[in-house]
Amino acid sequence: MSYERDNIAKLQAYVPGEQPQTGTVIKLNTNEHPDLPHQAVIDTLRTFDPELLRRYPSPTARPFRELAAKVHGVTPEQVLATNGGDELLRLLLTVFATPGGKGIGVSDPTYSLYEVLAGIQDVPVTRVPRLDDWSIPGDFAKQLNDAGVNLAFIVNPHAPTGRLESVDTIRKIATEFNGVLVIDEAYTNFAEHDCLELVREGSGLDNLILLRTLSKGYSLAGLRFGYGIASNPELIAAMDKARDSYNTDALAQALACAAIGAHEEVSASWQKIKAERQRLTDSLIKRGWAVLPSQTNFILATAPAGIDHAVRIYQTLKENGIFVRYFNHPRLLDKLRITIGSPQQNDALIAALDNMN
Ligand SMILES: *Cc1c(COP(=O)(O)O)cnc(C)c1O
Repeated sequence: MSYERDNIAKLQAYVPGEQPQTGTVIKLNTNEHPDLPHQAVIDTLRTFDPELLRRYPSPTARPFRELAAKVHGVTPEQVLATNGGDELLRLLLTVFATPGGKGIGVSDPTYSLYEVLAGIQDVPVTRVPRLDDWSIPGDFAKQLNDAGVNLAFIVNPHAPTGRLESVDTIRKIATEFNGVLVIDEAYTNFAEHDCLELVREGSGLDNLILLRTLSKGYSLAGLRFGYGIASNPELIAAMDKARDSYNTDALAQALACAAIGAHEEVSASWQKIKAERQRLTDSLIKRGWAVLPSQTNFILATAPAGIDHAVRIYQTLKENGIFVRYFNHPRLLDKLRITIGSPQQNDALIAALDNMN
């Protein structure tokens, strides 16, 4: 006897990147930051007052939202704090994707969690394939409008290719699309530009939400803290009604404030990762790989000898304690997604590759 809803019974669960629990492996598979969190975060953790654990936290993470608003040039009413960026995605589905409706739209390939969340909400996914250069087709909004979709997701800079779309491209899509457009900026800290100007006052857009997370740029994947920034406070107010009453905890709020308060100093680490990204790209190209220019903290690299080669390298690296990501997607079978690690980790990866030949 099975008791769950039919769509849950049919659901394929999200498959996270492998998280081996031994300390000795080199993890270049889930886009974590190689450095520890900023010292301000560590100090806040060490001096955290247990009295704050006894009491309920701010239900809306007000101090964090005020700080984030100041950093980004928006109002606190445009910011929603969530338990990881993933909770924001779930809220977006709950609030904007009508059960029995036309579902969500994505540019394919994309973050596989979107599809799982759509399955939970029991709505379909309309996939618009990216072009050969991984750009978004010019009629993206039109295709989704024609399909009757009213919630769309674009990862920008894009995962898993690292490509960045211009602000003008995003503005055009938001203007044309008849629904809520989510720009997932999980990797924006490593990119040349973001889309903040499109959510600031005067953008003229009422349907845009940016996703941000502390998991990647701030070395806080274990903390579970993300947030949304909307061009229109009404979108935030709608999601505020549907979230858990205390969706971010007191400790997470305090550490998140410390992290974003240190954003200028943390940005030095983004520069280091960008330099390592260039070095790793050059090393791989020298060894016969094709590597797309990336605006993220990972690269998508095509193995010198095709599909079997990518799988073989993935497996051999894993046997050597180095984890990278392989995607079972028709357009990605000859490729590996490699997180930019510390200089030592990147050197170990290159050494392991050289040892295979
Ligand atoms: C990492 C990531 C997120 C959010 O991750 P959290 O750890 O839940 O904050 C969202 N979108 C994409 C594409 C990501 O890679």
